[in-house]
Order: sequence, then structure tokens, then C-alpha cells
Amino acid sequence: MSFKTRFAPSPTGPLHLGHAYSAILAYNMALEAKGECLLRIENTDSTRCRPEWEEQIYSDLAWLGLVWPTPVLRQSDRKSAYDAAISKLSQMGLIFPCSCRRGDIAAAVSAPQEGVSQFGPHGRIYPGTCRDRSLSEERKGDALRLNISKAVDMLTENLIYMETGLDAGQKAIACKNLENTMGDVVLRRRIHGDTAYHLAVVIDDNEQSITHVVRGEDLQDATQIHVLLQRLLDLKIPVFHHHALIRDEEQKRLAKRTDAKALSNYRANGATPDDIRHLVGLGF
Ligand code: GLU
Repeated sequence: MSFKTRFAPSPTGPLHLGHAYSAILAYNMALEAKGECLLRIENTDSTRCRPEWEEQIYSDLAWLGLVWPTPVLRQSDRKSAYDAAISKLSQMGLIFPCSCRRGDIAAAVSAPQEGVSQFGPHGRIYPGTCRDRSLSEERKGDALRLNISKAVDMLTENLIYMETGLDAGQKAIACKNLENTMGDVVLRRRIHGDTAYHLAVVIDDNEQSITHVVRGEDLQDATQIHVLLQRLLDLKIPVFHHHALIRDEEQKRLAKRTDAKALSNYRANGATPDDIRHLVGLGF
């Protein structure tokens, strides 16, 4: 199996030091393995993605000295592939329409519900309000969600993926407790019918024959959903490497909202690509 990975930013803001670390790490791992590292533009969120951020991504990565095969896959071109996957999951009875808004979910979650965990590591867990609705009742403006318990019950084998360290040693990780960490995730968003990240990412990793996914440890719980979707859709499950996050002086993870650590900011202040490599601990 040859090594193929990808760096997959969303053009919702400027790339920061954390992105540089992730991109350079994936790139170095591919070089080391004599494999390939692709760039993918994850621009399914039509309300937050902007062409100018996409241009900035190309510019910052080229400045860092990273090169990619072209054409670059852009998720905005891939709606029909995502829709086909939703149809398949619908035929399996795993998708339900959901009309809940953020406020409805908050209200339902704060009502006492014995035995049901209300908050997961990523915030409120969807309380299941619309879970019994069938797709024939779908109304304009509904989101589509995955029925997690039903999906997990449908599997006949344990849900496991391989995590690799930087030394290529691997260990098996069992996915567990998806109901209480992620809940019934949205696969098609209410807004503009945009495909949600969880679905788009697995369809494209499969389309691009990605063998290794290199990304931040903040996505470890999301990985469990991805492995579930890969199993349900009969897709190949890549090996994962979840790396530590680059944090600011107060140990907070970097956000696109805070420009201070933006690569463009370092560039404007005269930093070199080597300075960035050293700053993120990947200098020669
Ligand atoms: N588009 C995701 C992000 O910017 C990347 C997720 C991934 O690498 O799978 O966080």
C-alpha cells in the first residue's frame, strides 16, 4: 500500500501556525514514505467559506514551499457524490429529517431526561427530538441527521481503526460511545442543503484513495463517526495520525478568528518559511 495523505483546510479564515504544522507534518510524512500529499479544499459551508480565503490558502502554502498535484479537489464540486451517499444511507433507514433549530435543541436538552447524557465533549448532544420522523415527512429547510444508535446496531463487527505514531508503529483504537460523544450528527445542513463535514470528508478520502489521514487530535471523536460512515458505506478505512495541537501562550488552541498567529501576519512581518518551521517545531 503506498502512502497517500492530504491536507484539507476549509477556507473560512486565514491559515495559522496550527495549519502550518499540520500541513508540513503531513507533507513530511508523505516524503518520508515516498508517497503523496494532496491538498483538498473543504468548502461545503456556503455561509462561511470565501474565495479570498481559498486564494490565501494557495498563496500561504506555496510560500511555505509545499507543492501539490493539481487540479485540487474542491468539495463545492462534489455535491452529487455526497447526495448519492445520503441516498444509500437513507435506503438503509439511517437518515431522518430534523427541523430543530439551535434553540429547540438547547430547550430540549435542558429538560430533565433520565439516563440520557445531555452534553458530550463537543457541547450539546442532539436529544433525538425528530428521530422518529421518516424521510417522507421531510420538509423544506430540514436538516438530515444520521441515527447513530441504529447505525451502530446495524454493524456486525466492532468498530476499530488503526492509529499510527510518527515511528510508523500502529495501534488499534475501538470506537465507542458514539451516542454520548457525537450523537445523531447532521449529514446535510439545514442552511442551503450544504453537505456536512463528516460526510464529505469520508466520501472524498475514499475518492482520492487516501491511505493515511493526518490531522489534529481535536478531531479524534469525529474520526469515530468517519469510521462508522466508512463501514456503513463500504469504504476503505484509512490509517489515522492525530497530532497534538499548536497552542497559544495561554495554552488555548488557535482559532481562525484570532489573526495574531495567521501565517499572513508572520509573512507581513518579514518571517521566512524556515522561521515558521522552527516555530512549529518542524525545523531542520
Ligand atoms: N476541513 C477540516 C478543517 O479545516 C479538516 C479536517 C480533516 O483533516 O479531516 O478542520
